[in-house]
Amino acid sequence: MSQPDVMDKLVSLCKRRGFIFQSSEIYGGTGSVWDYGPLGVELKKNLKDLWWRAMVRMRDDIEGIDAAILMHPRVWEASGHVAGFVDPLVDCKACKGRFRADKLEDAQCPQKPSKHPGEHTACQLTEARQFNLMFKTYMGPLEETASVVYLRPETAQGIFVNFLNVQQSTRQKVPFGIAQIGKAFRNEITPGNFTFRTREFEQMEMQFFVEPGTDEEHFEYWKDARMKWHHSLGLSPDRLRYKAHEQLAHYARAAFDIEFDFGGTLGFQEIEGIHNRTDFDLGRHQEYSGKKLEYFDQPANKRYVPYVIETSVGADRVTLAALVNAYREEEVPGESEGRVVLGLHPSLAPIKAAVFALTKKEGMPEMAHRIAGELRRHFPVDYDETGSIGKRYRRQDEVGTPFCITVDGESVKDGTVTVRDRDTLAQDRISADAVRAYLSERVPG
Ligand code: ATP
Repeated sequence: MSQPDVMDKLVSLCKRRGFIFQSSEIYGGTGSVWDYGPLGVELKKNLKDLWWRAMVRMRDDIEGIDAAILMHPRVWEASGHVAGFVDPLVDCKACKGRFRADKLEDAQCPQKPSKHPGEHTACQLTEARQFNLMFKTYMGPLEETASVVYLRPETAQGIFVNFLNVQQSTRQKVPFGIAQIGKAFRNEITPGNFTFRTREFEQMEMQFFVEPGTDEEHFEYWKDARMKWHHSLGLSPDRLRYKAHEQLAHYARAAFDIEFDFGGTLGFQEIEGIHNRTDFDLGRHQEYSGKKLEYFDQPANKRYVPYVIETSVGADRVTLAALVNAYREEEVPGESEGRVVLGLHPSLAPIKAAVFALTKKEGMPEMAHRIAGELRRHFPVDYDETGSIGKRYRRQDEVGTPFCITVDGESVKDGTVTVRDRDTLAQDRISADAVRAYLSERVPG
């Protein structure tokens, strides 16, 4: 069954409710760069925290780092990015459009959108030329070739060049991994689809260093573990699948993508890559830096350059997948107006609970403030006393708040409140003192 296209509605909701804004919007926007608003920053932070917890905190065989964006320019020669991080580009002399030569079937002819570029009689496509996706800038005051540096197009290289620093400082033994979350930049030719493909984005990457010969079993382990992580975020299993790479990159021995079904014409697209990179990267850095990057296996008394199993996932892309997955419109029994709900997994929801005072009288706001203040020490909480209770519920549904707590006239008398569940709409009446425990049980930390 094909999934509905909710992207336009999501873009509008994200702007209206403060999840995601276009960058420099008052100047007409910057091409495919986006800013996260108050709710978006919480959502993406929750996602990154869940990844960090699963990949670093919960394991004793993975260490975290935070490497700099600017690296020695030789890094990108060694990694192959200066020579090979290119997309083939064609221009159309008729419409002045610019397209990826290898993705013409995904593009529309601007003059005749029912056709692909090159298929309309007026099209005049040039020969393909190679276009490097790295952003270049200069380090220091002189804009000359010798001072060219690049904004990193992936976080992985910061891990490779620190392999021995981390191994020696932590005394980890192979197999072990290094993980980091950080910005990456790519001068994409055909960005778009909201935050799906942007020029500035965040990656969450982990490189697992293993003994050559054991790489295939580690690859299978990570392929499975990473899919389970996406399930744990609440992404529907029927919207997730593996896709084997048909053409392997020069460094790779095996590569699978995890794809998510974004619905509409976008359909299934990569959200994460799992790659067996062999000893390509460490080998190249050894060659280009002249420094040995070998691991000494003491018990076996042997030295080798480890193989690397990489898991590489985009924080922005998975945030978008979580939003697409969560968006739904539904009827409410007994009400004429339907509701829009973001059925986000509670661990991702930017606000975990909203506290309402039914009216602004009889001590209700005071009690509600007290409850919100207490809960705030443990969860992101919203307080709202404006508009009808129905409207307040709708506002919270639309941003994915799993629980709404209402203080009414009875509350002030007997110390109980109602807790309403976003998805089932069921309401429990519980003691105000029990609200924190109630939420803790239902909102994983
Ligand atoms: P694509 O084929 O979609 O360009 P890729 O194969 O180049 O992606 P990788 O280099 O494997 O992607 O990067 C790993 C992950 O980083 C991707 O699965 C995706 O989640 C994220 N990513 C890559 N490029 C972008 C981008 N331009 N915008 C947002 N996220 C990105």
